[in-house]
Amino acid sequence: LEHKLVHSERLASIGRLAAGVAHEIGNPITGIACLAQNLREEHEDDVELNEISNQIIDQTKRVTRIVRSLMSFAHAGSHKQDNESVCLADIAREAISLLSLNRNGVEVQFFNLCDPAHCVEGDPQRLAQVLINLLSNARDASLPGSAIHIRSEATEHSIDLIVEDEGTGIPKAIIDRLFEPFFTTKDPGKGTGLGLALVYSIVEEHYGRITIESPADPEQQRGTRFRITLPRHVDATPAS
Ligand code: ADP
Repeated sequence: LEHKLVHSERLASIGRLAAGVAHEIGNPITGIACLAQNLREEHEDDVELNEISNQIIDQTKRVTRIVRSLMSFAHAGSHKQDNESVCLADIAREAISLLSLNRNGVEVQFFNLCDPAHCVEGDPQRLAQVLINLLSNARDASLPGSAIHIRSEATEHSIDLIVEDEGTGIPKAIIDRLFEPFFTTKDPGKGTGLGLALVYSIVEEHYGRITIESPADPEQQRGTRFRITLPRHVDATPAS
């Protein structure tokens, strides 16, 4: 429990810091991008200058992406949560189409997810964000042609949402660090290390729990399985 509290405190203070930094960086970056664009337009014939301007614009896009994830991370916790019945199949479909997974050669398979009894209690947008982050990691770890499975399992009071891939798996040595903000093994510019930290915060906001099972397939030393336990939605209609 102590570990958990320290972790939440740490997330909250990093969130505040992130909000400040993101805010301060956002405007100058937009300024730099505009100047580079003007330069490109005003010196259309100068090939070298055009190339440099393009590089500046690309780099500002990269910073903007980091700032955006910092912002969404910073809003975790302070966000006013909608509490409604959330259908897992709906948010999974939303996440899949947002990431264009089916068009990227990764097949996503559902199991049980469409069961109308498998509804959780929470904020649909925040929960969709959880799936977006888990699925984009699964995609990044997967070879084209492999599958990602999303399924749900119900118990009396909770629903487990399971996202499993057939990708690289996670080395044991780093598994304890995955939820740390800014921990990433991806190339700079690709990963911010905020995806799973945000997932952790959102799951916590929903009084849920998250565990990682990696490798999902111990025989083959392959794949990763994330399991999120969330409170089940109970129909609040009073009995007459
Ligand atoms: P980012 O995706 O920006 O690196 P995350 O917090 O989402 O940040 O993930 C942290 C790290 O966890 C990743 O860099 C990767 O090493 C590892 N990881 C997360 N999900 C998976 C997965 N499904 N398979 C393999 N590695 C994963």
